[in-house]
Amino acid sequence: MDGLWKIGSIKDILGRHGFTFSKSLGQNFLVNPAVCPRMADSCGVDAQSGVIEVGPGLGVLTCELARRARKVVAIELDERLLPVLDETLDEFGNVRVINGDVLKLDLRQIIADEFGGMDVCLCANLPYYITSQVIMRLLEERLPLRSITVMVQKEAAQRLCAPMGSRDCGAVTAAVHYYSEPEILFKVSKGSFMPAPKVDSAVIQLHVRQQTPDLGCDERQFFKVVRAAFAGRRKTAINSVSMSLGIEKERVAAAFAAAGIAPTSRAEQLQLQQYAALTAALYGGK
Ligand code: SAM
Repeated sequence: MDGLWKIGSIKDILGRHGFTFSKSLGQNFLVNPAVCPRMADSCGVDAQSGVIEVGPGLGVLTCELARRARKVVAIELDERLLPVLDETLDEFGNVRVINGDVLKLDLRQIIADEFGGMDVCLCANLPYYITSQVIMRLLEERLPLRSITVMVQKEAAQRLCAPMGSRDCGAVTAAVHYYSEPEILFKVSKGSFMPAPKVDSAVIQLHVRQQTPDLGCDERQFFKVVRAAFAGRRKTAINSVSMSLGIEKERVAAAFAAAGIAPTSRAEQLQLQQYAALTAALYGGK
């Protein structure tokens, strides 16, 4: 549908369908005409490949994806938007809308059933209340996605894409770097949305690694140690790991020494390989 992003068209559609925004579903719809084409271009989808969208809303980004992709699968939780999407996506024969919760649906099965072997990427303006959960689910399940291009709040973008060892790092940053190569593509001001959120946003892209780095230790234990280190942000990593995992401080300090990590280090200062060495020192290598 042409001109869908225009405030007038959006208000008209919302009015005709009696739609009201749900804050709890993170419904901030894009009304800046420059953003969706830019997102759709940068996600890398083309006439041979498929794309999954989470939360199509009124379908502004969906239309742009449908113009470029062989197939689009859009997952929307709010069933009130289904008749709206029927209208706005009417002209496209390559879009399938699935009514469901992205955190609960079997995404691997959907990819197999809907895309049958095509290259697939994900592109979405994510509902902010589940940003990290969605990203972690997509990565941890090792879904066959080439890349993940998503709009998130600016602070989340900075955390997710922070270089390891920098101040903005969190446990989620370590996971993102393990499974992918992240980058911030561009900033989007809060005025680009209706209703306008309190903070600006950014579009980030995660290039999913086909092969994750060899840690030399058990992956689950590795993430347990990373989460433990970040649990006490104001503490040294030794204290935080010791308290969170319930291991005596002397044993943790010995593991830090064995891994060659300075005892005064804080969680955000460590690299993935240092966490791996620490995990191996605490629990044994592979
Ligand atoms: N893509 C539209 C746009 O850019 O204007 C809407 C984006 S809005 C930030 C987030 C969308 O995600 C809403 O349509 C909301 O209903 C939907 N949503 C919220 N929680 C969801 C969930 N758990 N699973 C799927 N969709 C969800």
